[in-house]
Amino acid sequence: MTTSLSGKTILITAAAQGIGRASVLACLAAGADVIATDIQAEGLASLADEAGKSPRLSTALLDVRDTAAVQALAAQCPPLQGLFNCAGFVHHGSVLDCDEAAWDFSMDLNVKSMLRTMRAFLPGMLAESARSGGGASVLNMASMASSVKGFPNRFAYGATKAAVIGMSKAVAADFVKQGLRCNALCPGTVDTPSLRGRIAAAADPVQAEKDFIAR
Ligand code: NAD
Repeated sequence: MTTSLSGKTILITAAAQGIGRASVLACLAAGADVIATDIQAEGLASLADEAGKSPRLSTALLDVRDTAAVQALAAQCPPLQGLFNCAGFVHHGSVLDCDEAAWDFSMDLNVKSMLRTMRAFLPGMLAESARSGGGASVLNMASMASSVKGFPNRFAYGATKAAVIGMSKAVAADFVKQGLRCNALCPGTVDTPSLRGRIAAAADPVQAEKDFIAR
């Protein structure tokens, strides 16, 4: 087992399933203390079981759309060395399918959630980085959508992920000299429960799966 993250505390949002959950398990395997958060209590409980009730894992219900809840959790947590903003939602459709409510929901969950967590956790991360000289890292989940190319029916999604990239570059520029790195992660198609849901919801699921892999 590698222990490259030993002694570091990392908070991960949307950790009950998919990429967030896999990231929790990978960080634990690398020796980190992990705070796994999500809105799904059952998913967090099964994650704790899968992690063998590791004493380095704590879980917390957290809706990243709730500013007061984010601030309350930040007030309770030890200083973080890592923050992984993983939460995100895929709106399906073009600009003509995206009314203002759909736009606002995607912007809130995919982008403003990161404003909330960074404003809540960065002061503690910067203070700890200055104290220990150890540095800190923020990772914001973007996507291949927008960073590499546009995809059909990903109007709101692509717009939010482009915003995440711009926001992450700005945070990096503002704080890298204080030892805080900020990066945006831009995966291609990843086999997760929500991807399976999008495939199942397609008119032709077999073709939809082929299309997701081909892109
Ligand atoms: P997923 O969609 O399978 O799971 C999403 C998780 O987010 C769930 O556990 C859900 O409970 C949680 N969640 C939903 N609303 C929340 C809220 N308000 N507060 C906190 N948690 C909330 O996850 P995934 O497919 O692994 O995607 C995770 C991230 O990766 C997203 O930002 C997504 O846009 C991005 N991404 C996914 C893929 C892919 O192919 N799966 C590709 C590129 C980027």
